[in-house]
Amino acid sequence: MTPLAKRIARWPKAELHLHLEGSIRPATLRELAARHRQPLDAETAAALYRYRDFRGFLNAFKRITALLRTPDDYALITRRLTEELMAQNVIYAEVIVSAGVMLRRQQDVEANFAAICEATRPAARRGLRLAWSFDAVRQFGLGHIWSVARLATQLRPYGVVAFGVGGDETALPTRALQPVYEFVAAHGLHRLIHAGEIGPPRAVREAVEWLGCERIGHGIAALRDPRLQALLIERGVVLELCPTSNLRTGALARQLRRRSADLSDHPLPEFFRAGIPVVLATDDPALFETTLVREYEQAARLGLTAGELRRLAATSFHAAFLPERARRAMLRRMQAVG
Ligand SMILES: [Zn+2]
Repeated sequence: MTPLAKRIARWPKAELHLHLEGSIRPATLRELAARHRQPLDAETAAALYRYRDFRGFLNAFKRITALLRTPDDYALITRRLTEELMAQNVIYAEVIVSAGVMLRRQQDVEANFAAICEATRPAARRGLRLAWSFDAVRQFGLGHIWSVARLATQLRPYGVVAFGVGGDETALPTRALQPVYEFVAAHGLHRLIHAGEIGPPRAVREAVEWLGCERIGHGIAALRDPRLQALLIERGVVLELCPTSNLRTGALARQLRRRSADLSDHPLPEFFRAGIPVVLATDDPALFETTLVREYEQAARLGLTAGELRRLAATSFHAAFLPERARRAMLRRMQAVG
């Protein structure tokens, strides 16, 4: 670890864009496979994590989650995730659960979620606070999205704080989602969405103006639209930026309309210095072979100073769906560590 990484690792941190199922490392996947009597050797497991573009990434996600079959499977991956978060001094995370994938596989979402919550207890005793966002899959259609939205509102008493839509953002017009977002907001949930990852700036604008989304997953399409950047600043809408994810899925190259992109092309420093509220996250740490500390190192490589990295890290607490008292307490914990 570099001295900077060591310093960042010590900071109490929050992470706001993190998929539970995207956190399954190959070793855990092999454990799941063995449980279901489909032994995977290390090479075959590693091959499941290789993909070349965005569609290939979605397929990898699908193949990996196919081994999640019982509440116990969900408990195992949750325990592993909490261990990883604590090892990095993450004290708060909002974790995205693909409730839509569970429904699609005709699983008992409530039983899975109960096992997930139970699995977090040891970590909770050691000071890790988690909240949950239920995610629907856009390409599965409106009926499916409604089912996930209803489940999210029913499970709000158990720690679901937000509802979002992910998957293929070109699959369904944003306007069609408006009644669903009105419903979840009326039931006290926060509104999230994946937009402007591979889709156009318009997808982000519509998510803000029509759906009232408070934070946008990725939103890097804003690099092509200064007026959209101004709208995000004016409304205080937060972009959850995941640089390694954008490189690995090819999303950044697509936004730049190029065949390939590298880290130096990422708009994080430009957005940050323009005053757009941005937070840093891993998205799917196992699929992108990253950690939150590594993402801060990426931000440092992009030219952010140590002071700017701290401001960036503090923004995750400011943008979190936390009660004010808890937020202030966490910020104090962060400020106490230099
Ligand atoms: Zn995501």
